[in-house]
Amino acid sequence: MKKKVFIKTFGCQMNEYDSNRIYDSIKNIGYSKTEEQSNADCYILNTCHIRDKAKEKVYHEIGRVKKIYKQKKKPIMVVAGCVAQAENEEMLNREPYIDIVLGPQSYHKINNLLKNFSVKKKEEETEFDSVSKFKFFDKIENKNNKVSAYLTIQEGCDKFCHFCVVPYTRGPEYSRPFNQIIKEAEKLVKNGAIEITLLGQNVNAYQHYENSKEYRISDIINKLEKFEELERIRYTTSHPKDMTDDLIDCYSSSKKLMPFVHLPIQSGSDRILSLMNRKHKVEDYLKIYSKLKNINSEIEFSSDFIIGYPGETEDDFQETLKFLEKIRFVNSFSFIFSPRPGTKAANLDIINKNVAKERLITIQKKLFNNQIELNRSMENKIVEVLVENRLNKQNKLFGRNKFLSSVIFEGNESYIGKVVKVNVESSNQNTLFGKIENNMKAA
Ligand code: SAM
Ligand code: SF4
Repeated sequence: MKKKVFIKTFGCQMNEYDSNRIYDSIKNIGYSKTEEQSNADCYILNTCHIRDKAKEKVYHEIGRVKKIYKQKKKPIMVVAGCVAQAENEEMLNREPYIDIVLGPQSYHKINNLLKNFSVKKKEEETEFDSVSKFKFFDKIENKNNKVSAYLTIQEGCDKFCHFCVVPYTRGPEYSRPFNQIIKEAEKLVKNGAIEITLLGQNVNAYQHYENSKEYRISDIINKLEKFEELERIRYTTSHPKDMTDDLIDCYSSSKKLMPFVHLPIQSGSDRILSLMNRKHKVEDYLKIYSKLKNINSEIEFSSDFIIGYPGETEDDFQETLKFLEKIRFVNSFSFIFSPRPGTKAANLDIINKNVAKERLITIQKKLFNNQIELNRSMENKIVEVLVENRLNKQNKLFGRNKFLSSVIFEGNESYIGKVVKVNVESSNQNTLFGKIENNMKAA
């Protein structure tokens, strides 16, 4: 009988991609996926360490698993992802229920770890070995059959922003070989992908040398452009410093690259950007914005903001608000600074919590208003939507427009995997609602 694995994924798209690849791998040693968390032989927590009480959340989660399996045979408990990397063998010492601790650059070892598993021997694998990992996964087919698929092209980071744990948990920057990526993209398209989102912690820093040619993310986009069945290309998350002209030019040469740029700035104050070690100024960001808008005025921008970074004064915060007057950001994220163990900012004096909360509320109100404004501007218009799936137990379809906004409308399953025109009738902050339009031209 097949053994069952339950995988719970926290955090970003990269973790989602990783969880799928872990599953692709362990399928070959007899595991099948279960959606029932109380019925697994192997229970994998794929963790995120970017903010909040990441470590405590994991132990809390394990407490829940212990309760679920109190009267049953214990599953092999695997903690994977960035918390596993940051905490390594400490986790095995603190929580004997854990059997295997597996860092993000060691996933290629999972088959052997599970095959040779013994209750008597706990295992910890947290080496940074991206080359071997991707060589291993290159031989294992990516079975993702989603209309909108993720494809990791780059991992890790060498930029060391003072607030960020990524360089410590994902390791140094590594770009996968160009041909390996294109081969995987071909498989995804063969499996039904209509949209591919290229992933990396610093995706636009992608740089690979082969036969004395330099490959950048623009080369990947240009190659994907030629895939007939593929209709949409996206990438995330990028850094302003790596927004080079070859990538900017793709917004004029490519018909498939979506006019939506997620480009985190973090703060609108140069003083705070410098304290954060961001390596760019507000002006650099505005230049990129102008270049892209000159190419295509339709492009929408999204960003990440960290509020209450140590040393942030009221004046700094006002600079951020002023910056928000210059660009109407949509689909954006804002977070209160969260000290991450091991980073340079970890031990700095944090600002008053109530002040930070108030600032967060102020900025979120502005960002939400932008979203409402954008969504309202789509009402009574036709938008192009890539249909991704049917909503649970409803006769309604779900898809996304070019700017990544959710769109819900009536229709049958035959539309899944197609780009359709939807007449938007109403909207709220998060979603557009409408009807499929067959005869009108898309806006
Ligand atoms: N590489 C991207 C960049 O440089 O802009 C960001 C990737 S990071 C994984 C995702 C987002 O998490 C960041 O843009 C930042 O806003 C947020 N973040 C990272 N560390 C944080 C911290 N210590 N506290 C609060 N937010 C944080
Ligand atoms: Fe983290 Fe991005 Fe800075 Fe790298 S560039 S340290 S991933 S915030």
